[in-house]
Amino acid sequence: MSGSDLLERLGILADAAKYDASCASSGTDKRSSRGGRGVGSTQGMGICHAYAPDGRCISLLKVLLTNHCIFDCHYCINRKSSNVRRARFTPAEVVQLTLDFYRRNYIEGLFLSSGIVKSSNHTMEQLTEVARSLREDHDFRGYIHLKAIPEADPELVEQAGLWADRISINVELPTDPGLARLAPDKNAARIEGAMGHIGSAIDEAKDARKRFRHAPRFAPAGQSTQMIVGADGANDIAIIQRASSLYGRFGLRRVYYSAFSPIPDASAILPLKRPPLIREHRLYQSDWLTRFYGFAPEEIAEAAQDDGMLPLDIDPKLAWALKRREAFPVDVNTAPREALLRVPGLGTRAVDALLAARRHRRLRLDDVARLTVSVARLRPFLVAADWRPTRLTDRVDLRRMLAPPQQQLELFA
Ligand code: SF4
Repeated sequence: MSGSDLLERLGILADAAKYDASCASSGTDKRSSRGGRGVGSTQGMGICHAYAPDGRCISLLKVLLTNHCIFDCHYCINRKSSNVRRARFTPAEVVQLTLDFYRRNYIEGLFLSSGIVKSSNHTMEQLTEVARSLREDHDFRGYIHLKAIPEADPELVEQAGLWADRISINVELPTDPGLARLAPDKNAARIEGAMGHIGSAIDEAKDARKRFRHAPRFAPAGQSTQMIVGADGANDIAIIQRASSLYGRFGLRRVYYSAFSPIPDASAILPLKRPPLIREHRLYQSDWLTRFYGFAPEEIAEAAQDDGMLPLDIDPKLAWALKRREAFPVDVNTAPREALLRVPGLGTRAVDALLAARRHRRLRLDDVARLTVSVARLRPFLVAADWRPTRLTDRVDLRRMLAPPQQQLELFA
């Protein structure tokens, strides 16, 4: 096999993988090859980051084993009926590529997914073999994220969890009817069943390691999933509620949102236009609010417009505060952490710094200003030693005052 052939296939299969957003490497065990032991590291410096044309960080070698697929998901460029160039790697080739890329410091690990060839079990076995070989044959200690095939036997997925840091299974669409319409070969119950199985295996492995130090690890960076936004008619509230239910039931580390991007040769049942990227961003902000700021999904729903969509011009926390003005202002010197976290413009770090500082003195508006990007934004919602907003939250034009100014786009940019 020539080097140019390998490069050509890498071009095809790396390009085909770029539509998957779920590749962050956060949350795994710390492993290092310092001291001449093994290859790779999940931490460490000097790792080059690459960015896909759509701006996503791909510091992992993000590639498919193959873009052949026997399924026909309408939103996917690799679906059976798509007219794309196809290619395939053997597990040994992916192992070699990962090691070569790692040694050149191009990547910090591997994100491996695949179209389904022959059968779900066969594909899952091939994916697992890559991870096994990297760990066992080459003592690779870098990060490995495997995309599992929900239709494969649970025992095969379990094998993968012994070698990979993270396992993910995509729920694909926010609603079951959306999945049935756009991915007719997939089954929502099967997908959730596989996620439940992985969740239990992760919990059992954690329990076992509490009791026996050498009990095997299972996907120490947990499991994640991805939802495509804007390919079906699901609104933001439906998406947030589904995400919240997945976090609660399967202990997911992350739900990734991927704005649907129209693909070449697209199926006629898909929308012609991608949703605005800012919609994806607002969903991530809402996700953050539910995970780190104590917001319930129902509260995020309060921030939405009548059509169930989050406003695009302001962030969801500000949108919620504007709808729930009776909850403000809160006193920076006396309010509990939970109340301060709800003030637009105050992040978790700023709130913790304020709580620490107020043990020693009464805080003034300037103290808050030093910890935020824009004090103007939070002034209507906060009381400080030298500041009390006078009926600011009653103003009908408060939203206009706080929304970022509209920008005139350049005609020929
Ligand atoms: S199974 Fe995966 S690779 Fe195959 S068509 Fe569906 S989304 Fe694409």
